[in-house]
Amino acid sequence: MPVRFVIIGGGPAGNSAATHAARLGADVTLVERDIIGGAAHLWDCIPSKAMIATGGAMSFARRSELFGLHDEDLPQLDAAAVKARLADIEGHLHRAVVDLLESQSVRMVLGTGRLKGPHEVVVETDEGIEELEADAILVSTGSRPRIPDWAEPDGQRVLTTRQAYPPPEIPEHLVVIGSGVTGVEFVHMFSSFGSKVTLIVSRQQVLPTKDPEVAAALEDDFLRRGVVLFKGARAVGIQSDDDGVVVDCDDGRCATGSHALLAIGAVPNSEGLGLEAAGVELSESGHVPINHHCQSNVAHVYAAGDLSGKLPLSSVGAMQGRKIAEHVMGMHTRDHRHLDYDKAASAIFTEPEIADVGLAEADAFALGRKIRVTKVPFAASAKALINSDPRGFVKILSDPATGVVLGGSIVGRHAAELISVIALAVTAGLKVGDIVDSLLVHPTLSEALADAAE
Ligand SMILES: Cc1cc2nc3c(=O)[nH]c(=O)nc-3n(C[C@H](O)[C@H](O)[C@H](O)COP(=O)(O)OP(=O)(O)OC[C@H]3O[C@@H](n4cnc5c(N)ncnc54)[C@H](O)[C@@H]3O)c2cc1C
Repeated sequence: MPVRFVIIGGGPAGNSAATHAARLGADVTLVERDIIGGAAHLWDCIPSKAMIATGGAMSFARRSELFGLHDEDLPQLDAAAVKARLADIEGHLHRAVVDLLESQSVRMVLGTGRLKGPHEVVVETDEGIEELEADAILVSTGSRPRIPDWAEPDGQRVLTTRQAYPPPEIPEHLVVIGSGVTGVEFVHMFSSFGSKVTLIVSRQQVLPTKDPEVAAALEDDFLRRGVVLFKGARAVGIQSDDDGVVVDCDDGRCATGSHALLAIGAVPNSEGLGLEAAGVELSESGHVPINHHCQSNVAHVYAAGDLSGKLPLSSVGAMQGRKIAEHVMGMHTRDHRHLDYDKAASAIFTEPEIADVGLAEADAFALGRKIRVTKVPFAASAKALINSDPRGFVKILSDPATGVVLGGSIVGRHAAELISVIALAVTAGLKVGDIVDSLLVHPTLSEALADAAE
């Protein structure tokens, strides 16, 4: 009899596990309460990047004179058209994921799932209760925006990220609370739309966990656009009325605006999942702690994606799903590489874009590790000049003794795409010489990677 694999949550982690396990021969049931594709498609990665692309098109139009174009009439944002575009993209992606799952004979059950015991999953559907027996279970129920007790999002003036696609009206002045990846992407998005923006930054640096040089490049761009930074301030309250919002900070300052947006992290969707019925332990934060095979403390119950408390990235969730499928099917003994979270590439879709992978310079110094750091500005790149956008740089970290690439950061146009080369080098243990010896296309931004590797 094939392995019966039941998955609760159809985001990137769940549907990747489902497709791969089915391909490897498992009998897979995927339970989803909302939409196959998950929050990633509906609320997070995709709509945010689609709105950023609209902002990018507006910025491009504003810069068109740099390309020898002249047009008196700049484009105006049509919120209804933007909303329709988001729905269209989400619809296409949803169909693509469902087609893929169907092609692998994954059974999809629309309903809310929970564990009833170590090997039983119960699903509440519109038609009634369905009980499923499982040899292996994956919980990949994701997370939702964190709402502090001092804020009451109303979807009108005070918004969570999920209420901003787009909001009922484009804010005249948006106060963004939180300067992590999500916060800075929304700052970029709305300032591209022409909104005034104030950003509450709880530390002294936006993107507090990133390389200071990378964060400084973004801060420069924000200041150039007129974004007001409230550094070293924590929001502690929001008052709102028909006219606007006032965000109170713990240092006595107040930020006023027309709207406020909360971007202060996420909480895992672990309540009501019946994990205790299966003996699965949770961390204090509500995540399911996992080992390097993504198993919880109960060997046949796996967790992946945001629920697992590892890097909250779609790409990481999807890779966990693939690895789990291999483990469930007993494939982890042959050519199996454990997932190395330290080698996950990530990007921030601001302008300039920011991307990094592997070892960070600050971490290398903190560890007292000898590294070679080489850096090349895009100002020296022919393609950057053709693009009229010479901002940013490529930085590569390597082992001075062996030349093995250990990590890198890119700030600049298409950084999220370009980082793939360094990510491949880091994962495959390639040397800087391998990048230098690659015959790249000219003129391209990727030539700066070869120069930085030199
Ligand atoms: C604004 C924003 C932008 C982001 N942008 C990016 C990006 O550009 N790139 C990137 O890599 N990451 C990005 N992320 C992070 C990324 O969205 C998450 O890491 C990813 O969605 C996690 O995938 P997941 O499979 O764990 O969960 P999700 O995508 O959250 O899916 C979980 C699914 O489980 C379902 N579910 C929950 N409980 C139950 C239940 N009891 N029964 C049945 N179904 C249930 C939910 O309905 C949901 O569909 C972004 C996050 C945010 C907030």
